Amino acid sequence: MILMKFGGTSVANSEAIQRAISIIGSKLDERPIVVVSAMSKVTDMLYRIADMAAAQDEAQTSLLLEQLRERHITVASELLANSGHMLNEAISEINNICDYLEKVVTSVCALGELSARSKAIIISRGENLSSTIIYHAMNASGIDTELIDARQMIITSGDTLIGDPIFDEINNRVPGIIEKGYKGMKAVITQGFISSTIDGEPSVLGRGGSDYTASLIGMAVDAKRIEIWTDVDGVRTADPRRVEGTKCLDKISFEEAAEMAHFGAKVLHPLTIEPAINKNIPILVLNSTNPQHPGTSIMGNDAIADGVKAVSWKEDILLINIFSPKMINATGFVQKVFKVFRDYNVSVDLISTSEANISVTVAGQQNVDQVVEHLSQFAEVHVFTDKSQVSIIGKNVINYGDVLQRLMNALKGNNLYMISQGASNINISFVVDRIDLTAIVNTIHSNLFAQQS
Ligand code: ASP
Ligand code: MG
Repeated sequence: MILMKFGGTSVANSEAIQRAISIIGSKLDERPIVVVSAMSKVTDMLYRIADMAAAQDEAQTSLLLEQLRERHITVASELLANSGHMLNEAISEINNICDYLEKVVTSVCALGELSARSKAIIISRGENLSSTIIYHAMNASGIDTELIDARQMIITSGDTLIGDPIFDEINNRVPGIIEKGYKGMKAVITQGFISSTIDGEPSVLGRGGSDYTASLIGMAVDAKRIEIWTDVDGVRTADPRRVEGTKCLDKISFEEAAEMAHFGAKVLHPLTIEPAINKNIPILVLNSTNPQHPGTSIMGNDAIADGVKAVSWKEDILLINIFSPKMINATGFVQKVFKVFRDYNVSVDLISTSEANISVTVAGQQNVDQVVEHLSQFAEVHVFTDKSQVSIIGKNVINYGDVLQRLMNALKGNNLYMISQGASNINISFVVDRIDLTAIVNTIHSNLFAQQS
């Protein structure tokens, strides 16, 4: 079996869906399990609808709900123009989903109160809509397909809106459900992103979670491969919107991909790698508008060469410096500091320490005021804003040739606030002024890649 996940842009309209279906059709002998995202921009719209409903903006919410219904009915009509009864069925299912959505939104509007449960219900409808349409379109084009409700398979605990998948539960449930769905069929399709708690309450995996759904199901069925179909040719050496001369990587390791996803590259949901590592299942990132391109394979470390693979960054971060002479020769200080971060649920990215100093970076949008206030009771604390964090990622990057020297050459003349290199030898990260970010990542990229090959 293989997993084939199509992201929002790969199912954005009827042509994109046709393209996706013909890609699926060419792989039926490998028994595809298709996972689909909502059509592009739909989830954004649903989040907006949820917020507007909470603000009791009835006029705006009903306008957006109407647009949503219309867009899906139009796409279904284009795809199923020649299959009358299927079109009727699809339209009536789209209407059911939209009617229910409207009902929930109306009651949120009436109360002006948005519970996590209502929000989970609202934001998950995009995948319900897209999967219904694509399911009918696959059947109409001769691929006998069963639609499976992802909420039976992906079980989460913890936060309803960023659910934490329970691997054992998923491993137990999924194979039987897929096997049953496959009876007499050529393919099965299910929704990305959406899940439920063990009690059957609605939940979701968080933004971009459809990749994660695909790898969770891939893990549970021991898939041969997990294909992530997007609108780019694969994982690149840097984000081409910011850096010139980037190249597509033909293969990277799970660890490299995880670091890249975590440190700013937006190709994969960062948690996607973990279930795949568990079973050593390769993940392929492929382009649905250019399916001949080999894309990028993400696989076990053994098949991967040493060296720099990518430059990634987080543009908006805060650097927090915690200074205390009491730290010198004292035990327990570090624990005391990090307990404060934990207590306020602020997650720390990079850490670097010296005898009397601890420097950490945190995402710019996190609220650190309380942390700073609390830390200030026992240490001197400085928060630096307008900073960016840049990471160089690659297997054995630190031992590889003169990477460090080239890096330092590229950074000449810029302020460097912190350097951190994990013992994993896979990433070197540092903090610079945000205003210099574009120039720095371009110089680093050209220094590291132009001369490397
Ligand atoms: N539709 C969801 C989102 O936009 C999940 C996904 O597409 O991966 O975040
Ligand atoms: Mg995505």
